[in-house]
Amino acid sequence: MEIVAVSFKSLIKSMYPCHSLVPHNRLGNVSWQCYYRKYNTSQHYIRQYYPVLRNGGVLCPQVKSQRQTFVHFSVNNAGNRYLHTSSPKCALPPALLLFLRPLSKFAAILFGRSLRMWWKKLPADKRLFMLEAFRSHRYLLLGLGASIGGGICYFYITHLEVDPLTKRERFIAFSDDQMKAMAKIEQEAMLSKFHGCVLPASHPVYKEVAKVAMHILESNMDIDKVKHTNWSLIVINSIDDKNAFVLPNGTIFIFTGMLTVCNSIDQLGIIISHEVAHVLLSHMAEQMSRLHLHELLMIVPIIILWALFPDGVAMFSQWLSNLFVNTLVHLPFSRSVESEADEVGLQLAAKACLDVREASAFWEKMKSLSDSESEEVIEFLSTHPAYDTRKKFLDSKVPEAMKLREKCNCPALSPLDPRTIIKTEISRKIL
Ligand SMILES: [Zn+2]
Repeated sequence: MEIVAVSFKSLIKSMYPCHSLVPHNRLGNVSWQCYYRKYNTSQHYIRQYYPVLRNGGVLCPQVKSQRQTFVHFSVNNAGNRYLHTSSPKCALPPALLLFLRPLSKFAAILFGRSLRMWWKKLPADKRLFMLEAFRSHRYLLLGLGASIGGGICYFYITHLEVDPLTKRERFIAFSDDQMKAMAKIEQEAMLSKFHGCVLPASHPVYKEVAKVAMHILESNMDIDKVKHTNWSLIVINSIDDKNAFVLPNGTIFIFTGMLTVCNSIDQLGIIISHEVAHVLLSHMAEQMSRLHLHELLMIVPIIILWALFPDGVAMFSQWLSNLFVNTLVHLPFSRSVESEADEVGLQLAAKACLDVREASAFWEKMKSLSDSESEEVIEFLSTHPAYDTRKKFLDSKVPEAMKLREKCNCPALSPLDPRTIIKTEISRKIL
């Protein structure tokens, strides 16, 4: 297989190979190589690790994928058995669940609009008769409304769960099986979208990323959900995508563009830990549950809106209310779960003895690579916190993570703080 070198080559040339390697940080002895890099103009050297392939490159943007395969990690020795302590959930098929939200909204609009049209065409005496009938049955209608409201409240209360890791109470309306089935649909869609770009499990880059992921998982086997999830990894060969994400079934997607941003194993490990944390905290199930609950609660207001107002006014009001709800409810929630995954991910990384200070250094670097001003302005319209917010938040969590590292008897970290180093590098523009 031909490997095309794209980055780190010139950087590595300016460094000195390590004489001794720390077995823990190497995570295997195939491709991660250690180099001393001169820090600043002083006599200090910093030890860094780079995934170096046979010809000195690190990634392969033009490699043709021979087989679209990926491996399931062998950390799960409990098969598909899930610990399920929550109350039983409704068992709607996942394909129906995916269409239910837009379908319910569309049906509510159609019903409200039809109601308005029907009322318009009704003769005056019939209208009076209908109003009278409505008045005389008002208690029955109020009782019906209260029963539906009570049913929704009951459903909400019986689907509240306390997360074992964060102790936060959250509303989860979907079972693990439903989430896994939906994840399978999403996974197949992603695999067909990136057809031809999925690195095979035999690819050196894939192997290296898998080693880091395995190390994170193996270091956190005391967490039940880590043990009982069928983790798998898909590396997508797309150098322009600096991204990674995870599906609720434990499938982690990493784009090669993200690997080019990572300076070290520690940074890659922190990214993977963040994705693992999303699965452990059932963030996708929680977000979907909230969205479905919101849609359910909006059915009656939408019917009333379309029944009372002309199409243009109803459409504008609905657009405005969606904008408000999205900006004031959904997006802040999305950012809060990202911060939660950052915090829990940092703890997972600490237990794997990674250098937790690299988390903040990574976001400092991401910030320097982006148009930072525009990014700060649009944070409130974003699903993720701004890079600077993430960096500061992770910085505040580093002391706690360092204590956890100590508890896990991890080797001492370099006295040179990567956060200071990255700042110096940015100011000198030598990233
Ligand atoms: Zn995330």
